[in-house]
Amino acid sequence: MTLPVAASTPAEAAIRFAAAGPATAASSPLLAVRGLTRRFGGFTAVDGVSFELARGEILGLIGPNGSGKSTTFNVIAGLYLPSAGSIRLEGEEIGGLSPSVICRRGLARTFQIPRPFRKLGLRDNATLAAFYGAPRPIDRAEAERRAVEALELIGLPHHRDAGVAGLGAAGLKKLEMARALATQPKVLLADESLGGLDETEMAQAAQMLRRIRDERGVSIIWVEHIMGVLMRVIDRCVVLDHGQLIAEGLPAAVTRDPRVIEVYLGTDAREVQDELAARAAG
Ligand code: ADP
Ligand code: MG
Repeated sequence: MTLPVAASTPAEAAIRFAAAGPATAASSPLLAVRGLTRRFGGFTAVDGVSFELARGEILGLIGPNGSGKSTTFNVIAGLYLPSAGSIRLEGEEIGGLSPSVICRRGLARTFQIPRPFRKLGLRDNATLAAFYGAPRPIDRAEAERRAVEALELIGLPHHRDAGVAGLGAAGLKKLEMARALATQPKVLLADESLGGLDETEMAQAAQMLRRIRDERGVSIIWVEHIMGVLMRVIDRCVVLDHGQLIAEGLPAAVTRDPRVIEVYLGTDAREVQDELAARAAG
């Protein structure tokens, strides 16, 4: 699969190309999901979904409430077993492996509702993630080094006394991101990172995801409801409805798809299209 042509500047395109690695690696998808299905009793929450994530890509995963976005993340990250289908990370099947094994293979996720260790400081929260999520065993000092690096990238304090207590919604979302990054993932699944944030915080969070991709070469799947912000950042997008994939492609095309407008965008479609036109104009 080739990289989509959505980079807005040549510098960005160069960074993305570098993140993609050698041509042989770039030609196979980093993550390939095929026929993914998850049933809960007689109810099918994710229904035969197939998509790919290219190296260096930011893929948006959108759809109405209850369409199966978080369940898709939960199955990919190993919290739920797939009922059917395959999930390949760098060509190797990870479907059905445990969350900790999948994390160590290089796939980290953030949760829609952050649940940090509240009695531990920010640094220890991120250090635990780094220690247990590292692809190869590392010692405590190395885990702390990775934790500090992740907290710095995200813009959270990393001195030993910085605690979780004072964090607002934006801070908790940031910590969630820092914990995921401390595991040094190749793929990051970000679930509703903007919920509860104000306009400025949302813009910063979107910028942060972009930096995580540009500076760390992390490929990202981003579930988000705030379309205006999401569309400014993603390269490509996949749309779910009732557990099925109903559209896939570049943001400009997907937001004009009559079915996507009918089931999801509704009267917001125009605004999102304008947002995209503004992005294209630089
Ligand atoms: P989204 O993240 O797109 O809002 P979810 O993936 O959370 O949607 O949910 C998809 C559907 O699956 C919903 O109808 C939800 O109620 C159902 N569902 C999710 N998790 C479970 C579960 N553990 N048990 C039963 N039903 C579930
Ligand atoms: Mg959800």
